[in-house]
Amino acid sequence: MIDIFHGNNSETHQRFQAWRKANVDGFHMTESAALQFTIHYAQDKRENAAGRGCNHQGGSDIEYLEDKDGCYTTARKVCSNSLAELIAWATDRSLDINNCKHCDTKIFTFPTVVSQVVGLAEGSVAGVKHFVSYHNAEKMGYSFEQAEPFSVGTAKSVERLRGERVWSISGEGRPLRYHLRDTWVVDDVGESSQDEFSNYARGRGIEFTPPIPISDLPWFSAFLKSQSNFRLGLQHIKDEFVPHFDALLAGRAAPAAVQAAGNVRGPLPV
Ligand SMILES: [Zn+2]
Repeated sequence: MIDIFHGNNSETHQRFQAWRKANVDGFHMTESAALQFTIHYAQDKRENAAGRGCNHQGGSDIEYLEDKDGCYTTARKVCSNSLAELIAWATDRSLDINNCKHCDTKIFTFPTVVSQVVGLAEGSVAGVKHFVSYHNAEKMGYSFEQAEPFSVGTAKSVERLRGERVWSISGEGRPLRYHLRDTWVVDDVGESSQDEFSNYARGRGIEFTPPIPISDLPWFSAFLKSQSNFRLGLQHIKDEFVPHFDALLAGRAAPAAVQAAGNVRGPLPV
């Protein structure tokens, strides 16, 4: 869940501080300039027993105007327990976000490479179209993990895909079991050098590790039918199913379960 605190007054300051106390393992983004955010661990370094975080945020006990006459919510604060959710929120709004270098360290690495998954969506979330990309390991001859991350080959026209969102689903085993593997926003399209496909689309996004099992979800069989059992390749997702995918992304609350662009999964099979 996203909580936003914005206003130079005692009440908003205290509500933000209360959120930090209640969500010690959460994250918050602070707006440094208009529409530019920096993501920190919710807790100040001096409050965290392991020394995680930075000491630029001040403790959660600091009262309004106590710290250099300041209010912690003069700059807008956007908070969540899920880093992936914060990134999705910012991505949907085309906002500029960065990791705090003092929070995101070698020892306390953020679960997601934030700088690589932002600024992707063009236009508002309402205008973004959603597509499904299906990978059947048996048919394709290589596993999902072996494929180039956040990319798809297709015989279809790709120009219209820029700025749109793709959800990758894999199918393995018999009977087939389906998993949601990643979601990404297309920022590069072109002609493919691979024989099987004439075009490619690529982007940056978020990988679900471990993959999310979806075969048994109540809406999945209807979705599968709407996709003709994934026989049609890269295919538009009907509006009625999009909220289910959004919910899976938001529901991945444990930040450690989400990884991002920049993960090299190994080369494409020759
Ligand atoms: Zn920080």
